[in-house]
Formats: sequence, structure tokens, C-alpha cells
Amino acid sequence: EYEMERGAHAVLRTLTGAGYEAVLVGGCVRDRWLGLPVKDMDIATSALPEQVMSLFAHTVPTGLQHGTVTVIPERGGPAFEVTTFRTEGDYADYRRPETVEFVTSLDADLQRRDFTMNAMAEYADGRLYDPYGGRDDLGRGVLRCVGEARERFGEDALRMLRCVRFAAAYGLEIEAGTWAALQEQAPLLRHVAMERCRAELERMVEGRAPVRSLQLLAESGLWRHFKVPTGVDWGRGSELAGGSAGSGAPNEQHRPDEPGKDVRPPVPAAAIRSAGHEADAGARGLEARWTKLEEPETKWALLWTLLGVDSDASLQAMQALVFAKRRMEAVGAVLACDATLAQQAAADAESVRAAWVRAALRYGVQALRRWLALRAAAAPPDGPQREALHSGAVWLAALPAATLQELAVGGADVQAALGERGGPWLGELLHKLLVRVALGELRNEREPLLTEARRLREQQR
Ligand code: ATP
Ligand code: MG
Repeated sequence: EYEMERGAHAVLRTLTGAGYEAVLVGGCVRDRWLGLPVKDMDIATSALPEQVMSLFAHTVPTGLQHGTVTVIPERGGPAFEVTTFRTEGDYADYRRPETVEFVTSLDADLQRRDFTMNAMAEYADGRLYDPYGGRDDLGRGVLRCVGEARERFGEDALRMLRCVRFAAAYGLEIEAGTWAALQEQAPLLRHVAMERCRAELERMVEGRAPVRSLQLLAESGLWRHFKVPTGVDWGRGSELAGGSAGSGAPNEQHRPDEPGKDVRPPVPAAAIRSAGHEADAGARGLEARWTKLEEPETKWALLWTLLGVDSDASLQAMQALVFAKRRMEAVGAVLACDATLAQQAAADAESVRAAWVRAALRYGVQALRRWLALRAAAAPPDGPQREALHSGAVWLAALPAATLQELAVGGADVQAALGERGGPWLGELLHKLLVRVALGELRNEREPLLTEARRLREQQR
């Protein structure tokens, strides 16, 4: 971070030394003010992109149409996005405009930004420039639009998702006018490109406050306006915050929204405030366990199971959200494990393990491991399942073999030992060997495996 700070100041000095205005802007100013770690430092300047490029030896024209040049002040050191002060041209279709206009005034640049806490600038000497009162709002824990909220959400409807994400992640209250505008403009969400929606959702689901995010999506009415063509009931987000989650009832039947019918009455702003800050212990616990999950695949699978969406519907939803195919399949495998295994809780330990082995072989050990983590996160901390799931994860880690490649014998060994040519029987036999090894009934060593292979082949005949 020190290196980044030094690099950023070198860029600021070079620009101001050449007679231009240059400041740190956006997320880094906000996060530094809050004492949080900073991922990247963005710079805004009155210099035009070609002027920026002429001042530094190493630059990349990463977004010239938006006025952005990436500057690498020191070889091998951090890179900085330097963007010319600009306003955004006319907004059409509630989307971010294609064209921008370069301006010389920092004020005009800050004015186009979404929230007061994101519209602060910092000079090289550390002075804060904060014409919209972002610092005061942060001090009071309030998230507020720059200017007229209704208009700002109308210009670019994605800002409504950003609003929810920031309020949740930073634990802020949404200012009353901004909140009213959010509820009013929620239907505009349908104009936002799915890729942009997905990127925001990913940051909520994989971020610091997924439960609170879901709750805000539900209570603002935004969830009803995702163009997701399935019966995904985002409205459950608010139930989660009430602590009803973790009962672990997946794949429940539920009705898709009927068009034009409000499934859930809007929740008054006062209610959301208290809900946000006094979320009950159940919701807080779920939030903590969710954020501790290691992999995004597990987090998404948890989301869908908590929303009560079955695996088909969640695949459709992820397709609509234009997820990468690999990610979708990985989440799908976890949900498939859930569909076959979640009801098993009542069975005796031995048949549970047998079912787990079958799932591991069918969907992969990784999917089963993620499923165990998912169920442990969804279950209440003092529930009896917790222990079983934990011991399941330990057991899984010690699994002697879960793929044919891990077996101590291969198809050729078995053919040679039996003096027989391969055929459909061979795959079936190897699979049976694998199941017995995985269940701990058979040692994963050449001799016992071949002996068992002979016995099984006799049975097959
Ligand atoms: P994060 O920590 O999530 O990256 P950030 O504030 O840096 O937060 P970015 O998306 O990186 O968010 O955007 C950088 C800055 O650009 C924001 O702080 C804000 O000032 C401005 N900005 C980004 N998106 C929008 C938008 N849709 N409308 C208005 N201003 C925006
Ligand atoms: Mg950023």
C-alpha cells in the first residue's frame, strides 16, 4: 500500500508540475477516509488524455473514449487510471452514456458521480475537497445521492444496485430521499445490461454483507425488476434477515411472481433502518458464516438454496445473468448434491456416507466439499447437523480415492489380470471398485483390488 501511495503521489506531482490540476478521486478517497485498505487509486486531472500520455514514459490507452489512460510511473510498480475531468453526455435509455465531454472543472467532474461519499477528491498535500458533504454523510452513516436522487437513478439505473451494495457493505443508512427515489425508480432496472447487473450482484453475494444486500434488494422492490425469467423469489431476502434462514429446507415449491401483482408490500423506510442496525442474531450469524465461505461457487449455491430456488431454476437464472459456463456448471453441481443429499439428514450414518460417496463420484469431490460447507453455513450454529457436516468434511478430506485415476489399478491392469479383453463390463467393474475403496471397505492397493476384481467378474457372469 505504501508503494501504491508513493506511485500515486508521483503521478499527481508530475501532472501538477506541468500546470494541470490533479487529484485522487472516488473509492480510494472514501476508503482512506474510513481507514479501510485501498485496492486501487484513481486519479482525475484537467489534462487531456494525449497530454497525460506525453508526460509519462509508460502509459496504456485503456479507455480513451472515456478519457482514461493507465499510467505506470515505475517499471514493475503499481498502475494508475488517470481520467480527464468530464461530464457525461445525454443519458439515453436509463443507461450510462456512450459519449462524454471533457471539462476543466473538478466540480463538474465530481457532480456526475453517484453518491456523496464517492464524490470527494484529495489533493497531493492531503487536503480533502468535498463540495457535496460526503464526509459529513459518512460521519453520520448516511448514503446519499449527489443531487436529485430520482434524476440520478433515472440517468443510470445501475446506480440503484450500487446504492444497495454500498449501503450493505459499509453498513450505511440510505438517506430518506434517496430511499424513496430508489423505490420509485426500481422498475428502470430492466434497462440495465445483464452483465452490469451480474457484476453488481457478484459483489453483493461475494462481498461483506450478502444478507443485508438481499434484504435491501427485497425491501426496495428492486428484486422484482431483474429480468430473470424464472421464479426466483428475491423477496426471501428480507425473510433471511429475520433469521428464518438455516432451517435448511431446499427446493421447496414456490410460485413465480404473477406479472403486475405485488407479491410483497413495500416496506416503509423506518422499518428498514431498524432492520439494518438491529438485524437479529440469526441474520448476523448467517451473514458471518456466509462471508467466511471460501469459494464464490459455494456462496452462489447458498444464495439459491436460501431463496428456495431449485437447481433448474437457478441455472436458468444464472444463464440470464450471463455467468461464465464453468461457473454455472460448478454451482449446478453443488445444487445437484443438495437436491440428492439434503433430505438424508435423518438416515443412519452409514447410509448417509454411502450417499455422499455416490454424490462425490457423480458430481465430483469438489462439489460435495462445497455442499458440506454450504449446509454448515446455512445450519444454525447449535443445530445437530453442524457436527455431522463438520465430521463429513473431515471424512471427505481423508477419502482414499474419488476418481478412477486415483485407483491403484487401471483398466489395463484388470484386463491383464483376468486375461480378458475390455468391454462395457470393465467400466462398471472399475466403478464398483472405486465405490468400495471410497467407502473404506477395500484397501487402495494392487493386490486386494485385483482379487476383488476377479470376484466381481465372477458375479457379473
Ligand atoms: P469499489 O471499492 O467498489 O471499487 P468505487 O467507488 O471505487 O468502489 P468504482 O466502480 O470503481 O467504485 O468507480 C469509481 C468511481 O467512479 C466511484 O467512486 C464514483 O465516483 C464513480 N462512478 C462509478 N460508477 C458510477 C455510476 N454508475 N454513476 C456515477 N458515478 C459512478
Ligand atoms: Mg474502484
